[in-house]
Amino acid sequence: MSPAPSNLSKIARRGLMLVLSSPSGAGKSTIARNLLESDPSLEISVSVTTRQRRPSEIAGKHYHFISVREFERLRDSDSLLEWAEVHGNFYGTPREPVETAMSEGRDMLFDIDWQGARQLQEKMSADVVSIFVLPPTMTELQSRLHRRAEDSEEVIRTRLLNSRSEIEHWREYDYVIVNDDLDEAFRNVNCIVNAERVRRDRRHGLFDFVAELLTEEPVL
Ligand code: 5GP
Repeated sequence: MSPAPSNLSKIARRGLMLVLSSPSGAGKSTIARNLLESDPSLEISVSVTTRQRRPSEIAGKHYHFISVREFERLRDSDSLLEWAEVHGNFYGTPREPVETAMSEGRDMLFDIDWQGARQLQEKMSADVVSIFVLPPTMTELQSRLHRRAEDSEEVIRTRLLNSRSEIEHWREYDYVIVNDDLDEAFRNVNCIVNAERVRRDRRHGLFDFVAELLTEEPVL
């Protein structure tokens, strides 16, 4: 066996900000959940929101559920990296956990809408990889929203009406996935994450590694 190259451990990279967006019901949250389960090195950014907690949601895990007043305090003190009003509620990404993760080279997943994706792209474009998830048909989107059965008819109606304007932003993303088959959609997202992690421009220490590699004399 050849000796382990001493500079291999010096190859490091900045943290990746993986942004997933889609209209409600396109399956983005399921893809995000599968991704987090299969890849323990990926962390989810837990947003703050002023919307009501759904019965299946756990405070602090799915969201930090806060009042409008508290939201305004966070927003006005610059504690949110991005924020938006979506379907009549406020949502935002707490700044501190993201900045810590990025400085430590850890990867983070963001389940946020196009307004948030745009703000992150403007502020931290080098670290952001954005994926837009489309439903296979609008009928399927509608039936997925009904199947979830966690929102009132009125909330479902608002989300369906808003889904068209969300979809119109698909061009602003690096990757677009049609979630016809969940396993395939998940496999595709996984491939994107793995490929983005080995991008040359994301990694430090490659220069020294290659320089040392080339000092080895070939055994002819
Ligand atoms: P839901 O109420 O279904 O959990 O989320 C509604 C929409 O808000 C989804 O499109 C979700 O991605 C988006 N969202 C959740 N958290 C944030 C956030 O922190 N910022 C932004 N801009 N959008 C968010």
